[in-house]
Amino acid sequence: MSGPHSGSTTVTGVAAGSEEPSSAATSVIAPVADGTATSLGGSLPRLEQIRARAKARERARAAAREAHAHIRAGGVRRRRTPEELKNVVERGQALLHGTSLPGGPDTHREASAEAVIAWAVREFGPWLAVASSMQDTVLAHLVAKQLPWVDVLFGDTGYHFAETIGTRDAAELSLDVNIVDVRPERTVGEQDATHGPRLYERDPEKCCALRKVAPMRQALRGYEAWATGLRRGEASTRRNAPLITWDEKNQVVKINPLAGWTDEQVDEYAQEHGLVVNPLLGDGYPSIGCAPCTQRVAAGADKRSGRWAGRDKVECGLHG
Ligand code: SF4
Repeated sequence: MSGPHSGSTTVTGVAAGSEEPSSAATSVIAPVADGTATSLGGSLPRLEQIRARAKARERARAAAREAHAHIRAGGVRRRRTPEELKNVVERGQALLHGTSLPGGPDTHREASAEAVIAWAVREFGPWLAVASSMQDTVLAHLVAKQLPWVDVLFGDTGYHFAETIGTRDAAELSLDVNIVDVRPERTVGEQDATHGPRLYERDPEKCCALRKVAPMRQALRGYEAWATGLRRGEASTRRNAPLITWDEKNQVVKINPLAGWTDEQVDEYAQEHGLVVNPLLGDGYPSIGCAPCTQRVAAGADKRSGRWAGRDKVECGLHG
């Protein structure tokens, strides 16, 4: 895994000038909310401008990593205990779920994604991470607007489509985020040597446990909360997804700001903000996982029917 992050105000300030405190450096780049930065001015040739912008973004990202690491290493406060975090969940649910009455969230009155993220940023700061499968970059963009250079955890299983890796790289170039590649203990080759080739065919539960679930659990030990892109409309198993919950398996707060969003809302947001999306979405793959376990889906079919097709398995284990 690579490193950490900081809160929006701190990061923006640190990012602009920390490594090069001269006025020249601070005037070269100012991270902006939509992730595209910068006012370069002058008459630099176009290529030099692009290079300068890329370098400035890397400086900002590195400074944020350092600042966030300092905070999470206890430089500002310690990681709260599970009991303390469960209290935070109760407060958040009462505030954002639209009702504290029994029976779960009132989906007509619950808070917007932006309000949920604002609460999470206030509550957790750099102890908040975003998880992304790199199907799209909507959640990462929404969070980065309020917490620039937030850590975005990408489960790099070693089995992804080239398009998914390309989306990951494009997100790193275009958004004010810090992509953290969460990798399994063993490479695909090492796993093949230990468990035999194509474990995903013989025992996908074990393969997912080794390559997705365990590495993410390990990564989440460094945070108090994770925001996921889980949506109720994606699958019957996600129908009751709350905005905020306690994640018992990972011992962190789990936040699903997009729980109530439809596919159309995701598409509209991505288009409105010019965000990168995985090109496979437009090529018959409405739900994208590892290449060996993801198939094209016929028009109108269940969107997740291409995942582990022909098996009972419907979730990798990260979300229950
Ligand atoms: S989705 Fe398939 S290849 Fe990816 S970790 Fe799970 S079983 Fe393995």
